[in-house]
Amino acid sequence: MIFRQLLDAATSTYTYLLADPERRVAILIDTVFEQHLRDLAILRELGLSLAFTLETHVHADHVTGAWLLREATGCVVTAPARASVTGADRLLAHGETLSCGAVELETRETPGHTEGCVTYVLADRSMAFTGDALLIRGAGRTDFQGGDPVRLFRSVREQIFTLPGDCAVYPGHDYEGRTMTTVAEERAHNPRLGDRVREQDFVGYMANPGLPHPKRMADAVPANLASGRPKDAAAAPRTPAWGPVIRTFAGVWEVPAEWVFTHRGEVHVIDVREREEVKASPLPVLRESIVLPLSELRARIDDVPRDRPIVLLCPAGARSAIAATILEKAGVERVASMRGGILEWLALGFTAVEINA
Ligand code: FE
Repeated sequence: MIFRQLLDAATSTYTYLLADPERRVAILIDTVFEQHLRDLAILRELGLSLAFTLETHVHADHVTGAWLLREATGCVVTAPARASVTGADRLLAHGETLSCGAVELETRETPGHTEGCVTYVLADRSMAFTGDALLIRGAGRTDFQGGDPVRLFRSVREQIFTLPGDCAVYPGHDYEGRTMTTVAEERAHNPRLGDRVREQDFVGYMANPGLPHPKRMADAVPANLASGRPKDAAAAPRTPAWGPVIRTFAGVWEVPAEWVFTHRGEVHVIDVREREEVKASPLPVLRESIVLPLSELRARIDDVPRDRPIVLLCPAGARSAIAATILEKAGVERVASMRGGILEWLALGFTAVEINA
């Protein structure tokens, strides 16, 4: 199985990608609205098509990316059956199995943090995605959204701690950067829910969390109850409209060389090779390009024209990626690195027409 654990640093939320390596179909668990382009990038770069989005519960601290992902990929949006979510294509009830190629997940209702919380367990019981029911050495709070410490205690004991000891536990969040744990570890060492803790101890502990409500609760909960449908479509992370620009998993705007070739009159092409290198290089300079070396770029940001989109290029697309990041951070809105660089341009056979020898 292909497996990735992705982090939204702003909310310490983990998103999980599970995919069948043969059929190249994928599941994303607990996506984050703001990470939409990252999620599309990892799917594209691994050659996966997204089949399903899953939620462990209605989150109070971030908005799901499910709605945007369905618009972008046509995936099936699911929600836990008891989460009262609208806009989902399929509801997953306790005991129900979801199959995505060879990847099979069993749904186990684990209410207590919220009314509709579930844990997804891989069919061979080697992994469990516990959302906020069971955290690493902790548990989700139970003081809002229908939370109930007695139910949470029983959910964890009956539905999660009954899994094999070596079952890997992947939580919905971790605020210390810890990534995973196991059932045996949590049974031995979880100070709130471990085997030695009694139900009444847990209830007493959870009755006094001393925590403020999540900052984004007022807008996150209603948005998640609608499967992450944006109230304001303009607020959604989108790729630019000026060309077939994509965001890579490395966080760079990229545009294909073929497109640059046919649209070269609509953009400014900036070659970021060093001047000496351009002179000595067997690689030609494209006719319409401006030479602005990477080493000078930061100091010469004001020389970058803004009337058309900027396409950056270098021999292989590595330095131009850095240049694109520099310009993006400097506030240049329409900028992209040409994927594959001049070598790609030559490989596509564009030499004869386009290049000054
Ligand atoms: Fe939560």
